Amino acid sequence: MLLHQGYSNHPEKPVRLSIIWSYLEEVSLDAICPLIKGRTATTTELQRVHKKDYLDILQQYCSNYQPNTAFPSQYGSGIYFNEHTWSCASFAAGSLCEMTKQVLSDDSLRNGMALIRPPGHHALSNFANGFCYLNNVAMAAAMAVEEFHLERVLIIDFDVHHGNGTQALFYESNQVMYFSAHRWEEFFFPKTGKIEEIGEGKGKGYNINVPLTGFAYREEDLYYIFVHVLRKLIQQFSPELILVSAGYDAVKQDPIGKMNVSIQGFETLTQLILFFANECMTTPKVIYALEGGYNVTQIAECVMASMKALVLYSHSVCSQEEVDSFYDTSKVSPITITTCQQVAHVLEGIWKL
Ligand SMILES: [Zn+2]
Repeated sequence: MLLHQGYSNHPEKPVRLSIIWSYLEEVSLDAICPLIKGRTATTTELQRVHKKDYLDILQQYCSNYQPNTAFPSQYGSGIYFNEHTWSCASFAAGSLCEMTKQVLSDDSLRNGMALIRPPGHHALSNFANGFCYLNNVAMAAAMAVEEFHLERVLIIDFDVHHGNGTQALFYESNQVMYFSAHRWEEFFFPKTGKIEEIGEGKGKGYNINVPLTGFAYREEDLYYIFVHVLRKLIQQFSPELILVSAGYDAVKQDPIGKMNVSIQGFETLTQLILFFANECMTTPKVIYALEGGYNVTQIAECVMASMKALVLYSHSVCSQEEVDSFYDTSKVSPITITTCQQVAHVLEGIWKL
Protein backbone atom coordinates (compact mmCIF):
# COMPACT_ATOMS: atom_id res chain seq x y z
CA MET A 1 0.00 0.00 0.00
CA LEU A 2 3.10 2.21 0.06
CA LEU A 3 3.84 1.88 -3.66
CA HIS A 4 0.91 4.03 -4.81
CA GLN A 5 2.53 7.42 -5.07
CA GLY A 6 2.00 10.72 -6.89
CA TYR A 7 4.14 13.82 -7.14
CA SER A 8 6.30 14.40 -4.07
CA ASN A 9 4.16 17.12 -2.49
CA HIS A 10 0.85 15.34 -2.95
CA PRO A 11 -0.89 15.23 0.45
CA GLU A 12 -2.05 11.59 0.05
CA LYS A 13 1.43 10.08 0.23
CA PRO A 14 2.90 6.79 1.47
CA VAL A 15 4.51 8.32 4.55
CA ARG A 16 1.01 8.80 5.99
CA LEU A 17 0.93 5.06 6.52
CA SER A 18 4.59 4.30 7.16
CA ILE A 19 4.77 6.82 10.00
CA ILE A 20 1.79 5.15 11.70
CA TRP A 21 3.63 1.81 11.50
CA SER A 22 6.75 3.31 12.99
CA TYR A 23 4.72 4.57 15.97
CA LEU A 24 3.05 1.18 16.36
CA GLU A 25 6.37 -0.68 16.28
CA GLU A 26 7.43 1.25 19.34
CA VAL A 27 4.52 -0.12 21.37
CA SER A 28 4.96 -3.78 20.28
CA LEU A 29 1.44 -3.95 18.94
CA ASP A 30 1.60 -7.68 18.27
CA ALA A 31 1.88 -8.23 22.03
CA ILE A 32 -1.28 -6.20 22.67
CA CYS A 33 -3.65 -7.40 19.95
CA PRO A 34 -3.72 -9.90 17.07
CA LEU A 35 -2.49 -8.64 13.70
CA ILE A 36 -4.55 -9.60 10.66
CA LYS A 37 -2.72 -10.18 7.40
CA GLY A 38 -3.94 -8.11 4.48
CA ARG A 39 -4.99 -9.45 1.10
CA THR A 40 -6.26 -8.38 -2.31
CA ALA A 41 -10.02 -7.93 -2.77
CA THR A 42 -11.88 -10.68 -4.59
CA THR A 43 -13.86 -10.01 -7.77
CA THR A 44 -17.09 -10.65 -5.85
CA GLU A 45 -16.16 -8.13 -3.17
CA LEU A 46 -15.24 -5.52 -5.78
CA GLN A 47 -18.34 -6.01 -7.89
CA ARG A 48 -20.76 -5.72 -4.97
CA VAL A 49 -19.98 -2.01 -4.93
CA HIS A 50 -18.29 -1.07 -8.21
CA LYS A 51 -19.38 -1.43 -11.83
CA LYS A 52 -17.46 -3.98 -13.87
CA ASP A 53 -16.57 -1.54 -16.68
CA TYR A 54 -15.09 0.88 -14.15
CA LEU A 55 -13.05 -1.88 -12.49
CA ASP A 56 -11.79 -3.06 -15.89
CA ILE A 57 -10.76 0.46 -16.92
CA LEU A 58 -9.00 1.07 -13.60
CA GLN A 59 -7.12 -2.22 -13.72
CA GLN A 60 -6.13 -1.90 -17.38
CA TYR A 61 -5.08 1.73 -17.03
CA CYS A 62 -2.75 0.86 -14.15
CA SER A 63 -1.27 -2.27 -15.71
CA ASN A 64 -0.47 -0.34 -18.94
CA TYR A 65 0.35 2.84 -17.04
CA GLN A 66 2.05 5.61 -18.98
CA PRO A 67 2.47 8.99 -17.30
CA ASN A 68 1.51 10.91 -20.45
CA THR A 69 -1.81 9.07 -20.98
CA ALA A 70 -4.72 10.65 -19.10
CA PHE A 71 -7.20 8.54 -17.12
CA PRO A 72 -10.62 8.74 -18.84
CA SER A 73 -12.39 11.73 -17.33
CA GLN A 74 -15.79 9.99 -17.22
CA TYR A 75 -14.28 7.54 -14.67
CA GLY A 76 -12.48 9.93 -12.35
CA SER A 77 -11.10 13.32 -11.41
CA GLY A 78 -8.82 14.76 -8.73
CA ILE A 79 -6.74 11.59 -8.50
CA TYR A 80 -3.27 10.47 -9.45
CA PHE A 81 -1.94 7.15 -10.69
CA ASN A 82 1.13 5.03 -11.02
CA GLU A 83 1.51 1.39 -12.05
CA HIS A 84 0.81 0.27 -8.45
CA THR A 85 -2.44 2.16 -7.89
CA TRP A 86 -4.73 -0.75 -8.74
CA SER A 87 -2.86 -3.33 -6.66
CA CYS A 88 -2.63 -0.96 -3.66
CA ALA A 89 -6.31 0.05 -3.83
CA SER A 90 -7.39 -3.56 -4.22
CA PHE A 91 -5.15 -4.63 -1.33
CA ALA A 92 -6.52 -1.86 0.91
CA ALA A 93 -10.14 -2.82 0.22
CA GLY A 94 -9.45 -6.57 0.47
CA SER A 95 -7.65 -6.11 3.78
CA LEU A 96 -10.61 -4.28 5.32
CA CYS A 97 -12.96 -7.01 4.03
CA GLU A 98 -10.68 -9.65 5.57
CA MET A 99 -10.59 -7.83 8.91
CA THR A 100 -14.38 -7.47 8.85
CA LYS A 101 -14.78 -11.15 8.02
CA GLN A 102 -12.51 -12.21 10.89
CA VAL A 103 -14.10 -9.88 13.44
CA LEU A 104 -17.57 -11.09 12.46
CA SER A 105 -16.53 -14.76 12.55
CA ASP A 106 -14.58 -14.77 15.80
CA ASP A 107 -16.29 -13.92 19.08
CA SER A 108 -12.95 -13.19 20.72
CA LEU A 109 -12.37 -10.29 18.29
CA ARG A 110 -14.41 -7.24 19.28
CA ASN A 111 -12.86 -4.33 17.43
CA GLY A 112 -10.41 -3.69 14.63
CA MET A 113 -8.47 -0.98 12.91
CA ALA A 114 -7.50 -1.31 9.25
CA LEU A 115 -4.47 0.84 8.48
CA ILE A 116 -4.90 1.14 4.76
CA ARG A 117 -4.42 3.49 1.85
CA PRO A 118 -5.52 4.80 -0.58
CA PRO A 119 -8.65 5.95 1.27
CA GLY A 120 -12.10 5.06 -0.04
CA HIS A 121 -15.10 7.10 1.11
CA HIS A 122 -15.23 9.40 -1.94
CA ALA A 123 -15.16 6.53 -4.47
CA LEU A 124 -18.44 6.05 -6.32
CA SER A 125 -19.60 2.90 -8.09
CA ASN A 126 -18.00 4.04 -11.35
CA PHE A 127 -15.96 7.12 -10.50
CA ALA A 128 -12.69 7.75 -8.65
CA ASN A 129 -12.34 11.09 -6.86
CA GLY A 130 -10.92 12.78 -3.76
CA PHE A 131 -7.82 10.50 -3.67
CA CYS A 132 -10.18 7.46 -3.57
CA TYR A 133 -10.47 4.63 -6.15
CA LEU A 134 -12.29 1.79 -4.39
CA ASN A 135 -14.73 2.35 -1.55
CA ASN A 136 -13.14 0.23 1.17
CA VAL A 137 -15.78 0.75 3.86
CA ALA A 138 -18.67 0.28 1.43
CA MET A 139 -17.18 -3.03 0.27
CA ALA A 140 -16.87 -4.22 3.88
CA ALA A 141 -20.47 -3.16 4.63
CA ALA A 142 -21.80 -4.88 1.49
CA MET A 143 -19.90 -8.04 2.42
CA ALA A 144 -21.35 -8.00 5.95
CA VAL A 145 -24.86 -7.77 4.49
CA GLU A 146 -24.47 -10.33 1.72
CA GLU A 147 -22.08 -12.90 3.21
CA PHE A 148 -22.98 -12.61 6.88
CA HIS A 149 -26.65 -11.75 6.30
CA LEU A 150 -26.52 -8.75 8.63
CA GLU A 151 -29.63 -6.61 8.41
CA ARG A 152 -28.30 -3.46 10.05
CA VAL A 153 -24.81 -2.07 9.47
CA LEU A 154 -23.91 1.45 10.60
CA ILE A 155 -21.14 3.48 8.97
CA ILE A 156 -19.88 6.40 11.07
CA ASP A 157 -17.75 8.88 9.13
CA PHE A 158 -15.83 11.53 11.09
CA ASP A 159 -13.43 12.51 8.29
CA VAL A 160 -13.55 16.29 7.76
CA HIS A 161 -14.89 15.65 4.26
CA HIS A 162 -18.31 14.23 3.52
CA GLY A 163 -18.17 10.67 2.19
CA ASN A 164 -20.03 11.34 -1.04
CA GLY A 165 -19.19 7.87 -2.38
CA THR A 166 -20.47 5.97 0.63
CA GLN A 167 -23.61 8.10 0.77
CA ALA A 168 -24.38 7.47 -2.90
CA LEU A 169 -23.76 3.73 -2.68
CA PHE A 170 -26.27 3.17 0.13
CA TYR A 171 -28.67 6.05 -0.56
CA GLU A 172 -31.60 3.69 -1.11
CA SER A 173 -30.64 1.11 1.49
CA ASN A 174 -32.23 0.58 4.89
CA GLN A 175 -29.68 -2.10 5.76
CA VAL A 176 -26.67 0.20 5.74
CA MET A 177 -27.09 3.47 7.63
CA TYR A 178 -24.59 6.22 6.82
CA PHE A 179 -23.85 8.91 9.43
CA SER A 180 -21.41 11.73 8.73
CA ALA A 181 -20.30 14.84 10.65
CA HIS A 182 -18.16 17.02 8.41
CA ARG A 183 -17.13 20.48 7.30
CA TRP A 184 -19.49 21.93 4.76
CA GLU A 185 -18.80 25.03 2.66
CA GLU A 186 -19.82 25.95 -0.88
CA PHE A 187 -16.21 25.57 -2.05
CA PHE A 188 -15.13 22.65 0.14
CA PHE A 189 -14.75 19.21 -1.45
CA PRO A 190 -16.93 17.27 -2.23
CA LYS A 191 -19.74 19.83 -1.79
CA THR A 192 -22.25 17.13 -0.80
CA GLY A 193 -23.54 16.21 2.65
CA LYS A 194 -26.36 18.64 3.31
CA ILE A 195 -28.88 18.01 6.08
CA GLU A 196 -31.66 17.42 3.55
CA GLU A 197 -29.81 14.48 1.95
CA ILE A 198 -31.53 11.81 4.05
CA GLY A 199 -31.80 8.92 1.58
CA GLU A 200 -34.51 7.82 -0.82
CA GLY A 201 -37.04 5.02 -1.15
CA LYS A 202 -36.42 2.33 1.47
CA GLY A 203 -33.32 4.27 2.45
CA LYS A 204 -35.19 7.43 3.44
CA GLY A 205 -33.96 8.38 6.90
CA TYR A 206 -30.95 6.05 6.76
CA ASN A 207 -28.55 8.71 5.51
CA ILE A 208 -27.75 11.28 8.17
CA ASN A 209 -25.56 14.31 7.58
CA VAL A 210 -24.43 16.82 10.18
CA PRO A 211 -22.72 19.53 8.10
CA LEU A 212 -20.81 22.15 10.09
CA THR A 213 -20.29 25.43 8.36
CA GLY A 214 -18.69 28.81 9.02
CA PHE A 215 -16.33 27.94 11.87
CA ALA A 216 -13.44 25.63 12.81
CA TYR A 217 -15.16 22.97 14.86
CA ARG A 218 -13.58 21.36 17.93
CA GLU A 219 -13.85 17.99 19.62
CA GLU A 220 -16.60 19.34 21.91
CA ASP A 221 -18.76 19.96 18.84
CA LEU A 222 -18.28 16.36 17.74
CA TYR A 223 -19.00 15.04 21.27
CA TYR A 224 -22.23 17.02 21.27
CA ILE A 225 -23.25 15.64 17.87
CA PHE A 226 -22.36 12.11 18.89
CA VAL A 227 -24.30 12.29 22.16
CA HIS A 228 -27.32 14.16 20.81
CA VAL A 229 -27.71 12.57 17.39
CA LEU A 230 -25.54 9.48 16.91
CA ARG A 231 -26.31 7.85 20.25
CA LYS A 232 -30.05 8.09 19.65
CA LEU A 233 -29.69 6.70 16.14
CA ILE A 234 -27.71 3.73 17.46
CA GLN A 235 -30.32 3.12 20.17
CA GLN A 236 -33.11 3.04 17.61
CA PHE A 237 -31.36 1.45 14.61
CA SER A 238 -29.63 -1.17 16.77
CA PRO A 239 -26.76 -1.98 14.39
CA GLU A 240 -25.17 -5.42 14.28
CA LEU A 241 -21.86 -3.98 13.07
CA ILE A 242 -20.32 -0.50 13.18
CA LEU A 243 -17.77 0.48 10.54
CA VAL A 244 -15.96 3.77 11.05
CA SER A 245 -14.56 5.86 8.21
CA ALA A 246 -11.78 7.21 10.38
CA GLY A 247 -10.37 10.31 8.77
CA TYR A 248 -8.06 12.46 10.86
CA ASP A 249 -8.13 15.60 8.75
CA ALA A 250 -10.32 17.54 11.22
CA VAL A 251 -7.36 17.65 13.60
CA LYS A 252 -5.77 21.02 14.43
CA GLN A 253 -3.01 21.81 11.94
CA ASP A 254 -4.24 19.51 9.20
CA PRO A 255 -3.27 21.36 6.00
CA ILE A 256 -6.51 20.46 4.22
CA GLY A 257 -9.20 20.23 6.91
CA LYS A 258 -8.28 23.42 8.81
CA MET A 259 -10.52 22.49 11.76
CA ASN A 260 -9.70 22.48 15.45
CA VAL A 261 -10.11 18.96 16.89
CA SER A 262 -7.40 17.89 19.35
CA ILE A 263 -5.51 14.60 19.08
CA GLN A 264 -6.90 13.55 22.47
CA GLY A 265 -10.36 14.25 21.04
CA PHE A 266 -10.08 11.17 18.81
CA GLU A 267 -9.54 8.95 21.84
CA THR A 268 -12.70 10.29 23.45
CA LEU A 269 -14.71 10.02 20.22
CA THR A 270 -13.68 6.37 20.02
CA GLN A 271 -14.61 5.84 23.67
CA LEU A 272 -18.02 7.30 22.93
CA ILE A 273 -18.57 5.04 19.93
CA LEU A 274 -17.60 2.03 22.06
CA PHE A 275 -19.89 3.19 24.86
CA PHE A 276 -22.85 3.53 22.48
CA ALA A 277 -22.04 0.15 20.93
CA ASN A 278 -21.86 -1.57 24.31
CA GLU A 279 -25.07 0.10 25.39
CA CYS A 280 -27.12 -1.04 22.41
CA MET A 281 -25.52 -4.00 20.66
CA THR A 282 -25.75 -7.59 21.86
CA THR A 283 -22.28 -8.33 20.48
CA PRO A 284 -20.57 -4.99 19.92
CA LYS A 285 -18.24 -5.04 16.92
CA VAL A 286 -16.56 -1.81 15.85
CA ILE A 287 -14.10 -1.66 12.96
CA TYR A 288 -12.12 1.44 12.03
CA ALA A 289 -10.75 2.02 8.53
CA LEU A 290 -8.27 4.79 7.82
CA GLU A 291 -9.53 7.50 5.47
CA GLY A 292 -7.98 11.01 5.32
CA GLY A 293 -5.52 12.89 7.52
CA TYR A 294 -2.71 14.87 5.89
CA ASN A 295 -0.54 16.16 8.71
CA VAL A 296 1.93 13.28 8.71
CA THR A 297 2.95 13.55 12.34
CA GLN A 298 -0.51 14.12 13.70
CA ILE A 299 -2.13 11.30 11.72
CA ALA A 300 0.05 8.82 13.62
CA GLU A 301 -0.78 10.40 16.97
CA CYS A 302 -4.50 10.44 16.16
CA VAL A 303 -4.44 6.78 15.13
CA MET A 304 -2.61 5.96 18.37
CA ALA A 305 -5.32 7.85 20.30
CA SER A 306 -8.06 5.83 18.61
CA MET A 307 -6.11 2.59 19.02
CA LYS A 308 -5.68 3.29 22.73
CA ALA A 309 -9.44 3.45 23.12
CA LEU A 310 -10.09 0.45 20.84
CA VAL A 311 -7.56 -1.75 22.61
CA LEU A 312 -7.85 -0.56 26.20
CA TYR A 313 -11.51 0.28 26.51
CA SER A 314 -13.09 -2.42 24.41
CA HIS A 315 -14.30 -4.16 27.57
CA SER A 316 -14.59 -1.29 30.04
CA VAL A 317 -15.71 1.80 28.20
CA CYS A 318 -16.10 5.25 29.71
CA SER A 319 -18.59 5.68 32.53
CA GLN A 320 -22.12 7.02 32.30
CA GLU A 321 -20.91 10.10 34.24
CA GLU A 322 -18.27 10.79 31.59
CA VAL A 323 -20.80 10.43 28.83
CA ASP A 324 -23.20 12.72 30.66
CA SER A 325 -20.44 15.33 30.96
CA PHE A 326 -20.45 15.69 27.19
CA TYR A 327 -23.92 17.21 27.52
CA ASP A 328 -22.13 20.35 28.79
CA THR A 329 -22.88 22.85 26.08
CA SER A 330 -20.57 25.64 27.27
CA LYS A 331 -17.79 24.67 24.83
CA VAL A 332 -20.08 23.82 21.95
CA SER A 333 -20.66 26.27 19.11
CA PRO A 334 -24.25 27.57 18.83
CA ILE A 335 -23.97 26.58 15.14
CA THR A 336 -23.51 22.94 16.16
CA ILE A 337 -26.53 23.03 18.44
CA THR A 338 -28.71 24.62 15.75
CA THR A 339 -27.46 22.13 13.16
CA CYS A 340 -28.38 19.19 15.42
CA GLN A 341 -31.85 20.68 15.87
CA GLN A 342 -32.23 20.95 12.11
CA VAL A 343 -31.10 17.33 11.66
CA ALA A 344 -33.71 16.24 14.23
CA HIS A 345 -36.32 18.25 12.34
CA VAL A 346 -35.69 16.67 8.90
CA LEU A 347 -35.75 13.20 10.46
CA GLU A 348 -38.97 13.82 12.43
CA GLY A 349 -41.34 10.89 12.09
CA ILE A 350 -38.44 8.53 11.24
CA TRP A 351 -36.12 8.80 14.27
CA LYS A 352 -36.70 10.41 17.66
CA LEU A 353 -33.74 12.75 18.12
ZN1 LIG B 1 -10.91 13.86 4.28
